This record gives sequence, structure tokens and C-alpha cells, in this order.
Amino acid sequence: MSGERVIYMDNNATSQVAPEVVAAMLPFFAERYGNPSSMHNFGGQVAAKVDAARAQVAELLGASPEEIVFTSCGTESDNTAISSALASQPGKRHIVTTRVEHPAVLNTCQSLATQGYDVTFLKVDRQGNLDLEALAEAIREDTALVSVMWANNETGVVFPAEEIAEICAAKGVLFHTDAVQAVGKVPMNLSNTAISMLALSGHKLHAPKGIGVLYVRKGTPFVPFMKGGHQEHGRRAGTENVPYIIGMGAAAQLAAQYLEEENTRVRALRDRLEAGLLEVEATMVNGDLERRLPNTSSVSFEYVEGESILLHLSSQGICASSGSACTSGSLEPSHVLRAMGVPFTAAHGSIRFSLSIYNTDEDVDHVLEHMPGIIEQLRTMSPFWSKYQQTKCATPGYVEP
Ligand code: PLP
Repeated sequence: MSGERVIYMDNNATSQVAPEVVAAMLPFFAERYGNPSSMHNFGGQVAAKVDAARAQVAELLGASPEEIVFTSCGTESDNTAISSALASQPGKRHIVTTRVEHPAVLNTCQSLATQGYDVTFLKVDRQGNLDLEALAEAIREDTALVSVMWANNETGVVFPAEEIAEICAAKGVLFHTDAVQAVGKVPMNLSNTAISMLALSGHKLHAPKGIGVLYVRKGTPFVPFMKGGHQEHGRRAGTENVPYIIGMGAAAQLAAQYLEEENTRVRALRDRLEAGLLEVEATMVNGDLERRLPNTSSVSFEYVEGESILLHLSSQGICASSGSACTSGSLEPSHVLRAMGVPFTAAHGSIRFSLSIYNTDEDVDHVLEHMPGIIEQLRTMSPFWSKYQQTKCATPGYVEP
């Protein structure tokens, strides 16, 4: 793709590393290579920079620096939260989570279920929302943890994490939230919430891949996942990945600056894109339109394969994602859309566009220019589409949706 124009709308998969982040990191690959745990000044100066990055992340989350633990990624943060809740309360063997979590939580819980733990996977409705009464009812005496994502990576649907934290606190149960997609898009002030633990990932907010954060609220019982040295105040062993931690700090500072733009300019771009895509016949948006991240749009183009759409988009330099788990080779529609009850023909043709502060009006124009033609072309080859057209014509009183 080098030299070609890339319209990048796959930011929920990963995001461009901000130039400011790269600049902040570079010295720590070169001249500032000291180990933060060393007794000498050369290492001590690096330790001070690690602490400054910790403060930057804390500032973005409305937390205290002591509550911030650097990890290697969002997945490690999620695994740590779940494993810590179980290890610190050995008598409790029940977890409550949802059917629409990212595999970092879902597969971890499924694996625990095979090891004798009891897991409740809560349903969502057609809009992707949770029933909070059902959540409260699912909590038992032996519940060690409730783990519910703050925002869904596929649809962008935002769950009321603060409210769920209150329900859990009232029942004396720990609450973890996977906020990998929410941080930097949803305003947060964790000091005013009852959230026990929260996971975030650098590469979703313009830091590089391979750095994550786990927020652990003061007073939350904690058992480390990675055992070894005393780094991260004994909460995550292993010599600190200093350049990436510095990058995470810089990205957190930028995310705080861009929070408003995400919710105004980026939201407007997303809405214009979505409105344009909905002009294509037999197209729908998945997820609650109100309670949604400002950058995400999951659109289903009925009777076409998402993978074919992606390939055609890619040939026009447009990067997006499909809602099918094609990587598994199964071509099964995504577990999220299935849990929401999205019809089979729509789930298969779902495309996720996820924007960022680097997208422009021209990017949206480019997608809107190419998409109708791509869908029309693919539908001419779709037996399901011709069947739909015949049924439509044969249905008396049929009105175009
Ligand atoms: N949780 C959510 C909601 C995600 O979207 C992702 C990544 O796509 C992860 C967790 C995993 O994060 P990482 O890639 O940093 O392991």
C-alpha cells in the first residue's frame, strides 16, 4: 500500500501512533536506556519519567498515580483483573460477565468455566443493551467479580459502567470493566465511581501496540498475575517497558486533549458517514444509536458477505473491519451480533467503521463515493439478494423501508 492513499477507518482494531507519542518515546530507545529500578542516577532519572507517565494516565482517568499499573496490553490487564479477584477471594467461585465481551474477557471466563468456576453470561437486547435488574439478580453470595465492558468494540454500544459499579458496591462485590474502547472517548473520573478495576490498551488511543494499563482502586484486594520482581509496587513483575510506558503517558495526555474533538468533530464525521451509507437499500445500523461511542458505526448491508465488501473497500484504499469471525475460518457472524439477535443475512454483511481524530471530511466523501457501487456489484452476484428482490415485488402493499 506504500505511496497509495489510505483511508483508515479501523481504529477500534488499532490506531496510528501519534507523532507526538513517537517523539516522546525515541530518547528512551537511545540515550536514556537506564533501568528504573537501578540505584544510580542514570536509572533514577528514568524512574522519574515512568512516574510522570503514570501521573499522565491517572490524570486522564481521574485516578491517583498509585492506582495505575502498567501491563503489556489490554488482554493482560483483563486477565490480571479476573485472576486477582479469584485469587484474593478463594472461597468465591462465581463470575458475572456478558455475552458480548471481547475475547480477552470472554475466553478467559469460558476457560475458567471448564476449571470448575461458575460463570453467568448475561444476555443483551436487540440494541445491545444489558438488563441491569438481571445483572443485580445474577450476583450471589459467592460472586467474586462482575466484569462488564464499558464500550463494545464491534458496535460501540456503551454500557452504564458507573451504575453497574454502584450495584456491585451495594452488594459488596468487586467490579472490573474492560474500558479498552471507552478510554479517550467517554469522559471518566474514576475517583467518583465505585469501579474496582479497569483495563485499557495503548494502541487504541494512538500509543503503540504492546502497552496496557490496569487501574486498581485503592483498597481493592490484589494478587499479581505476573510474579517475579517488585516492579510496579509489587503488582506486575518484569523490568518496565520504559519507552512504551513513556508513549502511553504521552498518548493519555493527548487523549485528554482530544476528548472533546472525539465527541464533536469525529462524531459528526461518523454520523455523516452513517447517514450516507443508510441511503443504500436494505442497510441497517447495529446497536443503540444513542448510547454509542462517537467514532464507531456497525452497518449491515443485507445479503452480501462482509469479507467481500472489505476486499473491495481495501482495493479503494479503505480500511474497515467485518463483523464475522473470519479469522477462525468459520465465517460465523460475530458473537456480539448473534447475541443481539441480528438476523443472519444482516450479520454476515456487517462492516465496522471506526474513526479517529486523523479522519477528515474527504475520507468520508471517499467512502460514500465507492460504497454504493461496491454493494450494487456484490448484490448482482448474490442469490439471496435476487430472492429478496422477488419476495419484495411479490409482497402486496410492500413499502420500501
Ligand atoms: N478489550 C477490548 C474491548 C478490545 O477491543 C481489545 C482489542 O481489540 C482488547 C480488550 C484487547 O486489547 P489488546 O489488543 O491490547 O490486548
